[in-house]
Amino acid sequence: MPRFPFLDLATVNAPFLPELQQALWRVGSSGRYVGGVEVESFERELAQMTGTRHAVGVSNGLDALRLILRGYVAMGAIPAGGEVIAPANTYVATILAITDAGLRPVLVDPDPSTMNLPLEGLERYITPRTAAVMNVHLYGRVNHSESLERVCRERGLKLIEDNAQAIGARWHGRMTGSLGDAAAFSFYPTKNIGALGDAGAVTTDDTHLAATVRALANYGSSRRYVNLYQGFNCRLDPLQAAVLRVKLPFADRENELRRAVAEVYLSQIHNPLIRLPQAPSEPGEHVWHQFVVQSPEREALTAFLDANGIGWDIHYPTPPHLQPCYRGLAAAGTLPEAERLSQECVSLPISGRCTTTADARAIATLLRRFRP
Ligand SMILES: *Cc1c(COP(=O)(O)O)cnc(C)c1O
Repeated sequence: MPRFPFLDLATVNAPFLPELQQALWRVGSSGRYVGGVEVESFERELAQMTGTRHAVGVSNGLDALRLILRGYVAMGAIPAGGEVIAPANTYVATILAITDAGLRPVLVDPDPSTMNLPLEGLERYITPRTAAVMNVHLYGRVNHSESLERVCRERGLKLIEDNAQAIGARWHGRMTGSLGDAAAFSFYPTKNIGALGDAGAVTTDDTHLAATVRALANYGSSRRYVNLYQGFNCRLDPLQAAVLRVKLPFADRENELRRAVAEVYLSQIHNPLIRLPQAPSEPGEHVWHQFVVQSPEREALTAFLDANGIGWDIHYPTPPHLQPCYRGLAAAGTLPEAERLSQECVSLPISGRCTTTADARAIATLLRRFRP
């Protein structure tokens, strides 16, 4: 293990272990291993925290995204084959959900200052076939504006949040997951709130969508042995629901630990070869799922990080349109910012559980000395 590990999940979960043990025991002794009170309670608690009318626990974040899109298609709210605007530098799962639902991703080059979908000028990408905007709060940075809300409302587009990376973040005091028509959460173990395995959720104020997602995730059935849809089995496991009920109340505290590390990096890494992420700007928060720097000398930088025992990762080395499975989606060179980011980005350790502010100061001191 490097001196400064990128992320060590055992360390992340260590403070919760006594309570997790009780939660797992509770499920184990309950005799109820699918659905039940743990899942229902988790859904109620997530909806309350997010400020939405409904939360539906599902198997993972990708399934949360695809169930939202397939739900809207089943309801007739999104036409089959409709276009969905999405950022070109997102994690591939965002795009997998769009194509899985039989929809067409329209990839937009990110705003270089936020690394998120540009909030101005989105109208340029809207066509008569546009049905939705898939907005990703990438790296934990809230990406939202009144103009985005207005454009979606005026053009009749569903505004969907991929909130896999920004749980607990606020915009004007409103939580991510409540900023659009529907939102997908992931509780993959490395996310800011992680389960002990795969887990996810959908939040929405739309009662019809919530019921459709719930049915689709349960073989397409809301009444036993009556199948409204050709559905799936994408239910949230009660063991993971019980785990998440332990961790969810600490989302603010976990995010605060990340913020403290980010503040050290932002104020103490001074190096012309390392471009820092933009500090959050009011009214949107940043919960620092990743701390992503950019360097034209990435290979030398990662070698330097290795030599100094600093863990790192790359989010993400290949944008979706250059993946083998998406040949033909967009030609190489047509999304220059996404492509440049994939070549130049490096993620530094940011989990406040594994990286103390003292560690962050030591890492910043080392990085000030980086020369290729
Ligand atoms: C993690 C992630 C997903 C997928 O979530 P899983 O639970 O891993 O399926 C989707 N979108 C983004 C932006 C993510 O970071």
